[in-house]
Amino acid sequence: MNALHGLDTRYDAIIVGARCAGAATALLLARSGARVLVVDRQAYGSDTISTLALMRGAVFQLNRWGLTSRLAAAGTPAIRSTTFYYEGEAIQVDIRPEHGVECLFAPRRTVLDPLLVDAAREAGAEVRHGVSLSGLQTASGGRVIGASLRDASGACATIRADIVIGADGRQSTVAQLVNAKTYVEGSSASGVVLGHFEGMQQDGLHWYFAHHAAAGVIPTNGGHCIFVAVPAEQFHATFRGDVMRGFLEVLEMNSPRLRSNVNRAGLIGRLRGFGGARSHLRSCQGAGWALVGDAGYFKDPLTAHGITDSLRDAELLSRAVSIGSTQALESYQHERDTLSLPLLQVTDAIASFSWNVAEAKQLHKELSVVMRSETDYIASLSANPSLAA
Ligand SMILES: Cc1cc2nc3c(=O)[nH]c(=O)nc-3n(C[C@H](O)[C@H](O)[C@H](O)COP(=O)(O)OP(=O)(O)OC[C@H]3O[C@@H](n4cnc5c(N)ncnc54)[C@H](O)[C@@H]3O)c2cc1C
Repeated sequence: MNALHGLDTRYDAIIVGARCAGAATALLLARSGARVLVVDRQAYGSDTISTLALMRGAVFQLNRWGLTSRLAAAGTPAIRSTTFYYEGEAIQVDIRPEHGVECLFAPRRTVLDPLLVDAAREAGAEVRHGVSLSGLQTASGGRVIGASLRDASGACATIRADIVIGADGRQSTVAQLVNAKTYVEGSSASGVVLGHFEGMQQDGLHWYFAHHAAAGVIPTNGGHCIFVAVPAEQFHATFRGDVMRGFLEVLEMNSPRLRSNVNRAGLIGRLRGFGGARSHLRSCQGAGWALVGDAGYFKDPLTAHGITDSLRDAELLSRAVSIGSTQALESYQHERDTLSLPLLQVTDAIASFSWNVAEAKQLHKELSVVMRSETDYIASLSANPSLAA
């Protein structure tokens, strides 16, 4: 079937990418009355690599959008504590109720992404999966005025829009086509291997930090996501040839007890790896285009904050697009950078693995302060119109 069938020739916004950043932006724009088309080359409900943890800001947003009850209905476990292990020393922090958030969640992406897509559709957005962006339409002055789309059968369509939004991930095609400049780049990266396990008995989030090694246990739908991380330079040497052997060795470096618990648990599917990429901030707006989520701002996954920031920026961008002026879009970039830079810097320091235990604790304290001011800012938005106004 032609996935482009029945589309209009013009929308207020075309969004490329229908995961957390794209679907959330579509939801908010459609709720504000905009006519939105969202396309994604992957299938509805497909998985993507992630350790899945949502921070308080993300849960706050999902609450505000009326979607948390859907997470609970999908069997997503409530998370009420987080424990940090520094070479064996455990520090447990209970999740205190704040901004109406009483617990955290770590939904499988096969739950979170379609949930956002469904909400966007209910709000009136047109969402088509199996459709790729193949090019941008530009006016003679260079302004982006539409997109060329192609489905798996080879059918093509050219659709006009006031704005084309790239929510198409770290290797964004939209960013490449508009030549969006990278102006901040991190200096470190971690390589991650993760899997989904059944039979683990732990409640709450558990994060382990040791010399050149980290690990985590995260309760999700139908089991636990368990990950290990090492400096990206050591990724191939650690996992080459036998990923499971490397995975268990890094667990052992963090906690022999964790390794034996994981040994007894059952792996669902296979282990998946991410070799690492440096954090970056790119220009995220221009004439007729914008970027949201990883497309414009990527952070090393070791602080588990990409989804939270994608939902935050969906809110900031949709407010700016609703205002519709050049100044509003420029303010979106400024707001995003002001909130993101401290997060990117502390994440980069954590991903360097060049800390001792005392320094790791200090970095996590800094992360907690930055996350708190980000959540306060997001929470203030409901009362305050965007700074972009
Ligand atoms: C190993 C790892 C672990 C992570 N763990 C966490 C975590 O615990 N918590 C957290 O908050 N974040 C985590 N992240 C980060 C998080 O996954 C990302 O920040 C988040 O997925 C970004 O969402 P997005 O919507 O911007 O982009 P993506 O999730 O990358 O989605 C982009 C979408 O765009 C589509 N697309 C791309 N190009 C095209 C095209 N040309 N045409 C049509 N469609 C296109 C893709 O098919 C894709 O569906 C992790 C990342 C990694 C790598």
